[in-house]
Amino acid sequence: MSWLHKIVDPWKAVTQELCLRGTVEISFLPRVKDLVVESAAKIDCELVFYCDPRHRNLIRGQISGNVQLTCQRCLEPISMELVLKPTLALIRDYAEMEQLPDAYEPLLVTNSQLRPLDIIEDELILALPTIPMHTQDASCSIPKSLKTDKLTNQEFRPSGCIERPFQVLEQMKHKLS
Ligand SMILES: [Zn+2]
Repeated sequence: MSWLHKIVDPWKAVTQELCLRGTVEISFLPRVKDLVVESAAKIDCELVFYCDPRHRNLIRGQISGNVQLTCQRCLEPISMELVLKPTLALIRDYAEMEQLPDAYEPLLVTNSQLRPLDIIEDELILALPTIPMHTQDASCSIPKSLKTDKLTNQEFRPSGCIERPFQVLEQMKHKLS
């Protein structure tokens, strides 16, 4: 058990300029665990609490590590290198959120309790793709015969079923007259 699993008072941490640094195994992050192949993978984390010149209460994070995901096209693993550097601004209500510059991510803290591990987990979830897929065709091991994107419409059209809507209309007109 390290600091990551404890609860801190974020407002006090800002005045103390607290710096938390450590490594967490993905198996400790229940919401991330199911999204990756290797839950024993380790993530390096650093959270620095500080105040900016405009007296905003901030947390600067650095979260990095390598995770293995499953390609949703070929079901083979994809390795993804993550380096996240969020800056979170502590806010007490939504009115404060509207005054934040875009570079700051709002973090609503209604009481004086914050679990640093929740920040790490939230940031990882935001960064992971919802449908992971190999970005380059070459690394995706789906069999070539299943790659349909190279086929043209022409190849899909069964012979004898060529649409000629105007010809059909012509024929109908002849029948009616
Ligand atoms: Zn793939």
